[in-house]
Amino acid sequence: MPDRHALLSASGARRWLECPPSAALEARLPESSSAAAEQGTAAHALAEWKLRRALHQAPTIKPVSDWVDEEMESLTDDYVAFVLEQLREARAACTDPKVLVEQRLDFSHVVPSGFGTGDCVIITEPVLHIIDLKYGQGVMVDAENNPQLMLYALGALNAFGLLYDIDEAAVTIYQPRRANISTWHVSVTELEAWAAEVVKPTAILAASGDGEFASGEWCRFCKLAPTCRTRAEANLAIARHEFAPPAELTDDEIATVLAQLPQLKAWAADVEAYALSLAVNQGKRWSGFKLVAGRSIRKYSDESAVAKAAEAGGVSDIWDRKIKTITALEKQLGKKRFTELLGDLVVKPAGKPALVPESDKRPALEIQSAANEFTPISTK
Ligand code: SF4
Repeated sequence: MPDRHALLSASGARRWLECPPSAALEARLPESSSAAAEQGTAAHALAEWKLRRALHQAPTIKPVSDWVDEEMESLTDDYVAFVLEQLREARAACTDPKVLVEQRLDFSHVVPSGFGTGDCVIITEPVLHIIDLKYGQGVMVDAENNPQLMLYALGALNAFGLLYDIDEAAVTIYQPRRANISTWHVSVTELEAWAAEVVKPTAILAASGDGEFASGEWCRFCKLAPTCRTRAEANLAIARHEFAPPAELTDDEIATVLAQLPQLKAWAADVEAYALSLAVNQGKRWSGFKLVAGRSIRKYSDESAVAKAAEAGGVSDIWDRKIKTITALEKQLGKKRFTELLGDLVVKPAGKPALVPESDKRPALEIQSAANEFTPISTK
C-alpha cells in the first residue's frame, strides 16, 4: 500500500523534491483520510488478492469492503489481465521472470528511511518492470519522469540489481478509471544519475526541514496547501500581475492569465474549503464573514405518503418512468454483458469545448472560424 506515513515518501516525492521544507512541516500535521483514499485502499487489496490468485501465490482470503462494487470488480480483473499480459511478454524475453506482488521496496540508500510498496514488480533481464495501480480518477498520472516510480525502481535495483543483469526500467501507471495506461522506459544509468545528483542532496535538505519553499501544481496534495504563505504569495502575485497599457489585454496577456488560472482556482478553492470547514466544525469566526444556510430546493419528505395522498385525492398520473443511467445499468449488468446487449446503442456526443495547455494529450479540435462558417453564398 502507499507509503503515505514515511517522512520522505515515494508517493509524495514530487512535492518534497520541488519544495523540500514541506516534508517536515507536513509531518507535524495530523493524518487525514478521504473517501477516495479508502476506495483506493479497497481497490488495491482486491487487486492484490486477484493477482496473487492468478499467479498461484500463497492463498489469502478475499478482502471484503463496502467500497467493492461491479466497477471495482471489473477494473481489478482488467488490471490482473494487464499484468499477466506483461508477464507473458516478459517470458518471451527471459525464461524465468520473477514476479513480486505488493513488494516492499527499500530505497534508503538514496533517501533517508525511504521505502515504498510496488503493486507489481516483474524482474527480467535486461528490463525491470514496475506497475503501479492508481484507482483515483481526479488527476491523470503520467509515468514519464514520475519520481514515485523512479524511486520504486531504485529500490528494486538495490534489492535485485546484483542478482540480475538489468539495464533498464520500464515503469507503468495503470489508471483504469481514466482509461490511462502510461509506460516510460529509463536506463539504469539515468536513474542512478538522477538519484545521485537530484534526489540525494534534496532528500538531505528535506529530512532536516531545510531548503527553499517552492509552489506549483504539486501543492495540490500538500497538507499545508490552504494556509501556506509561499503558495498564497505566488497566487496573489499572479492576481496582482501588472499589465502594461493599452486599456485592453493583448492576446499574449490573455494566454498568460489562462496558463495561471488552474493554480489560482485550486488555491482559491482550497482556502475557501479550509475556512468553511473551520467555521462549520469549530465555530471559527472570520472577520467580515458569517455563516448562512445555502440555497436549497424543495423536496418530498416521504414519497410513498405523497403517492397515497395524491391517489386518495383522485390524482393518479404522478409517476415519471425513466430509464436507468448508463453507469447504473453498467453496474447492474457488468461491463461485458452491458457491452454485448447495449453497446451499439450507446453514443458519446462531443464534449463541451475546453481550453487546455498544448501539453494536454487530447487531440486539438478543428473549429471552423466564424468568418468561414458564415461566408455568404453568392446570389448572382
Ligand atoms: S503548499 Fe506548496 S509551497 Fe507550501 S509547503 Fe506545500 S508544497 Fe511547499
